[in-house]
Amino acid sequence: MTGAGRLVGVDVPRWGARVGASLVVLTATLAFAAALGALLGPRVPGDGTGQYVLYTVSVLVASAACLCRAVTTPLERPAWALLGTALLLWALGNVYSLMWLRQLDSYPLLSWADAAWLAWYPLVGAALVLLLRSRISAVPRNLWFDGVVVGCATGAVYAAVVIGVYLPGGVASVSGLDLVAAFSYPAGDIVLLAMVTSVLAVHGWRLHGGWGWLVAGLAGSAIIDGAYLSAQSSDRVLFGVWPLVSLALARSAWQSVRQVEQVRVTGWRMFAAPACCALVVLAVLLHAVYGDSNPVAIVLVTVSYLALVARVGLLFADVRRAQVRLEAARAAADQLSRTDPLTGAANRRAFGEAFDGVRRDQSCAGILLVDIDHFKQINDRYGHDAGDAVIVTVIRRMGAAVRRDDVVGRWGGEEFCVLLDAIPDAEVLRVVAEKVRTAVCGDPVPLPDGSTVDVTVSVGAVLLDHVTTLDFAIGAADEQLYAAKRGGRNQVRSAVVAPD
Ligand code: GH3
Ligand code: MG
Ligand code: MG
Repeated sequence: MTGAGRLVGVDVPRWGARVGASLVVLTATLAFAAALGALLGPRVPGDGTGQYVLYTVSVLVASAACLCRAVTTPLERPAWALLGTALLLWALGNVYSLMWLRQLDSYPLLSWADAAWLAWYPLVGAALVLLLRSRISAVPRNLWFDGVVVGCATGAVYAAVVIGVYLPGGVASVSGLDLVAAFSYPAGDIVLLAMVTSVLAVHGWRLHGGWGWLVAGLAGSAIIDGAYLSAQSSDRVLFGVWPLVSLALARSAWQSVRQVEQVRVTGWRMFAAPACCALVVLAVLLHAVYGDSNPVAIVLVTVSYLALVARVGLLFADVRRAQVRLEAARAAADQLSRTDPLTGAANRRAFGEAFDGVRRDQSCAGILLVDIDHFKQINDRYGHDAGDAVIVTVIRRMGAAVRRDDVVGRWGGEEFCVLLDAIPDAEVLRVVAEKVRTAVCGDPVPLPDGSTVDVTVSVGAVLLDHVTTLDFAIGAADEQLYAAKRGGRNQVRSAVVAPD
């Protein structure tokens, strides 16, 4: 993939950059401390509150890093404000849960903390859309479809794995508020993961500057959340990994940004995503048939499949368009390779092909070799451009003097060849050759400077009443032309080519 783009160093006031960098370093310190705590596991004394506080503070500092980016830099301001707010609400949800909910006798199913945590999904989703819009100018249609295909396929896998474990009885087993409480987190994670993988697809599977940390952080957040929801990870692990996610987001706020003007995908990357997704679709469907049937996964995988079909249709349309363009280019190149560039008349190659066609039909044909008399003098007196204009006019007059099916070509320099089809005898050949000669010299030829010049031609004509080669025919016509020149020019000499 290549992407013509320009590197935009994020232009920030010095104090802003310093504060941002300090906040990233602080987040990193807190995150590594929290990760270490998670690694040490049960050996860390206490009931886990300390780790929860460490994790919450790291999210809070990461939020400050994103908001600092939004305050100090106009570039992508709304997106970073949204991300900073999402992190802030996340931390506030933690504080509310720690200070209030954990003191209650029973932890409520839904609370204000959930509202703060769930706000994460729409805010981050909106930020992703804004960043995509500001960072990429042009994305080919195919890649948008790849985004849908890949996003839905990823979401389907996530749904099959997480929801199957999280809600073993299926979505239908719960209802009302329970369903909202149970389903909103995995649903948010599915959408977020789908969006993040779509970002990857839309970038042609290359992450340009500015995306790496963000994609890693958001994908990490959805995956760790899924692991937690499906009871594959404990609170302790979660409190160790969440700060790393917040570190990735804080770091991404202070990464240099590269704007891509045109994303282009070539080679195996064009094929890889649809092919992998086709396999994923099959795997999820087989899982649904032989394992748990999960309506969310089925819906997502169906959308992915339909988008895949549309993507194949687009690919087919692209291939057809490319074929048409190729054929047009080939026809143009072919036309160019048979045409004399100055006059647009047939060149030697095209003339040779026309000659072969006529000779295949075995009909009697005539060949004229025509040479402008004293052309060097025209060049010397009026200039090369005037000489060119004379050549163009002579060809045009000869073309007008013969039949439509006859071929007038430029043999080289100021020498022309005419292929006359269906010439019954030497007399008709002479008449046509005379017609060509008089057509050229009938009127003075106008020149580019407005003046005119009288032009005459000598013509060597041969009648071919048996199959022969072009070289032989031209050689014979050249002998007649030479005779016409020697005879005083501005005349026709003709002969019948006898079989060897
Ligand atoms: P003759 O009557 O014996 O044919 O005399 P001539 O002056 O025409 O002699 P000759 O055929 O040797 O001269 C051809 C000249 O045509 C020589 C060359 O510089 C000129 N010429 C060849 N191709 C072109 C062209 O494309 N444009 C122009 N302006 N001149 C050309
Ligand atoms: Mg000449
Ligand atoms: Mg000549």
